[in-house]
Amino acid sequence: MSDLDLIIQRLELHGHRITASRKRVLKALLDAPAHFTVDDVLRQANDVGRATVFRTMKLLQDLNVVCRVMMENGSLHYRLSTSGHHHHLVCRSCGQVADFANCDVSSLIDQLARSTDYQIEGHWLEVYGRCASCRASEPVVAG
Ligand SMILES: [Zn+2]
Ligand SMILES: [Zn+2]
Ligand SMILES: [Zn+2]
Repeated sequence: MSDLDLIIQRLELHGHRITASRKRVLKALLDAPAHFTVDDVLRQANDVGRATVFRTMKLLQDLNVVCRVMMENGSLHYRLSTSGHHHHLVCRSCGQVADFANCDVSSLIDQLARSTDYQIEGHWLEVYGRCASCRASEPVVAG
């Protein structure tokens, strides 16, 4: 089964119809590089309306088909999601994104919930650094 079929299956499983425009957006996602912006999708699926692209991206995010990555410059990128709760390692030099799943913040969250009386419902953590190949090819810049 192709990635496209798998995503379509997941949408249908959750009761969402696969319209022609949604399919265009899905194909654009699968053709996109490892991480991409909504503008990239809009360019790729240029016959699909802006509102439809945004709605579809939101839906795919709710279904964990895509996840959001905050790049260091503040721009929001999307990425096909690995299953389950995870975070990203972002290389500051080449922009490569890697996933990691072992997120051990439960004691921090318990403590926050107690000290602030918040009901904690989510968190977002991105880690920035320089990947191994960038470190090998570039001298370390101080500061
Ligand atoms: Zn992700
Ligand atoms: Zn790198
Ligand atoms: Zn986490």
